[in-house]
Parts: sequence; structure tokens; C-alpha cells
Amino acid sequence: MASSRQEVEAGTKVYEAAIRKTSDTHFMCRQMKHAWTRKPGANVRVTLPAMRGDLPTITTLYVCMRGCGVVRKDRLTVKQISPGNYRVIDKSPPSYEYPDGYQIPGIPRGVRPSIILQQEYVRRANEEIANAMAGERERSE
Ligand SMILES: [Zn+2]
Repeated sequence: MASSRQEVEAGTKVYEAAIRKTSDTHFMCRQMKHAWTRKPGANVRVTLPAMRGDLPTITTLYVCMRGCGVVRKDRLTVKQISPGNYRVIDKSPPSYEYPDGYQIPGIPRGVRPSIILQQEYVRRANEEIANAMAGERERSE
């Protein structure tokens, strides 16, 4: 369903405020996407069919290398061709588990997070430049 202009404006303000409070790690992942690596240890899990006729699945867990806490789960449906030899039949879209504070609920359709993220990137960069300049002035005094 389409959102009204007022809903989009209100949602944009909510998103901007939430992004502004986001930690640098979470902000970096929202802006540049996660940097996935296989979760050490139990990274691959084979689930055998519960019912006759169902196919086994292979689940792979990934964690973000930046330490944002998001976990990605990829699931493949496979068919046994011969003992120990599986062929991929289907790949489900990945699912994600988010740590507290990562998700921003209630953002209506029509809000453009990528523009807001770029604006926040520029705001943080300006702040860094201002801090660096202030540091330079302190050193030269
Ligand atoms: Zn991440």
C-alpha cells in the first residue's frame, strides 16, 4: 500500500533521528552492507526430513566481521543422489537475526534510507573534520 506524503515525511524524520543515534558499527553496516564470514564452529547444519517425501536442508550461519551482531542464515534444500552426495534443489532467501537496537521499526514505504544514510555520512564526516581542525588549532596554540 502506498504511503501518503505526510506519512513519508514523518517516517523520514523518524528514520533520520534513529540513524543519528546509531553506533558507528551499525551505521557502517547499514551504509556499506554487512561483511559476512561463516560463523566459527557450528556453521553448517544438516536437517534431515521430518516426514517421508520431504527433502533435507543444509543451513549455513554467517556473522558480520564488523561485530554488529547480525546473523545471516542461508538455507539450501538438497536431494541425496547417492550416499554422501547431495544436489541443490532450491535456495531459500536468507533470513536474519538482529541484535537489540539494530532494527528501526515503523518506516513506511516511500522513505528513502539510502539518501538519509548518505546525508548522515556527510554529517559524521563534517563532525570529524571539525574535530580534527579543533585538534590542529589546539596543537598550534
Ligand atoms: Zn554488520
